[in-house]
Amino acid sequence: MGMLNVGLGMAFGGRGFGLRDRLEGKPGYSRMRKKSERSGPPIERVVPDNVLTFDKVTDVFNSGTTHDEDQPCHLHVADTTICAERCTREYGNPCQYFCPAAVYEPLFELKGANGQGERVEGRLQINFSNCVHCKTCDIMDPYQIITWVPPQGGEGPVYTGL
Ligand code: SF4
Repeated sequence: MGMLNVGLGMAFGGRGFGLRDRLEGKPGYSRMRKKSERSGPPIERVVPDNVLTFDKVTDVFNSGTTHDEDQPCHLHVADTTICAERCTREYGNPCQYFCPAAVYEPLFELKGANGQGERVEGRLQINFSNCVHCKTCDIMDPYQIITWVPPQGGEGPVYTGL
C-alpha cells in the first residue's frame, strides 16, 4: 500500500490516498530563529570525546575528502557584508554550526559597548577544501546568499570508501 501511495504521489504532484491538495513543504532556512526570538540558557555544545564522537576536522579526515587547495572556491557567498553586518547580529553566524566540516569560519567580532556591537570587524574565512558536499549551507543559510557549485575535477569526499 505504501508503494502504491508513493506511486500516486509521484503521478499527482504529492497527492496520495486521502489527500486532496499537493503536499506542502517549507524551506529549512525559514525555520531558523533569530537570536532575539530565542529565550532560555545558552545552547551547550557537545564536546567530542574522541572515542565515540569526534571533532569536525577529524570527521573530514575520515571522509577522505580532498580538494586542490589552489582551485577556485566552489562555495559562492554573494555578499559577505550581509554575513558581517546582519548575520552576526541577527543569527550569530549559524553557518559555523550547521556546516559539518568546519568550512565556515566567521572571524567577526562585534565592537562597541558591552560587546553588543556598534560595528563589526573581521572577515569570513571559507575553508572550502574541507567541504563534504552535503549542501546544508545552500539550504539553511537564512539569507540564501550561499550557492554550492560542483568543485573542479569532481573532487570531494570518498563516499564509496566509507
Ligand atoms: Fe559545509 Fe556541507 Fe556547505 Fe560543504 S556543502 S560547506 S560541508 S554545509
